[in-house]
Amino acid sequence: MSKLLRIENNDGDTVGYMYFCPGCKSHHAPYIRPYKSPNGASWDFNGNEVKPTFSPSILTRVERSDGKLMVCHSFVTDGNIQYLDDCTHKLAGQTVPIPESD
Ligand SMILES: [Zn+2]
Repeated sequence: MSKLLRIENNDGDTVGYMYFCPGCKSHHAPYIRPYKSPNGASWDFNGNEVKPTFSPSILTRVERSDGKLMVCHSFVTDGNIQYLDDCTHKLAGQTVPIPESD
């Protein structure tokens, strides 16, 4: 049971990882250099699928259907998600381990 789900391209290469964010209650999917996510972003990865570190920080901004802007900004270091103070969810300022995936 891994905390990370591999994202693979058509050639079977791992291009990124997906993990569950308990702050957003949805998944984040950092792509790993040299691969890029659909919006052109990519991250460095320490190669450890059990205690992953991604850099730089992971920032998502999502506008909800009611127009409210939801921000999630975190560092993932050694398998822990460190939420920064600009998160709009209740885990702002806290550090929690990446949850196990099904
Ligand atoms: Zn999040």
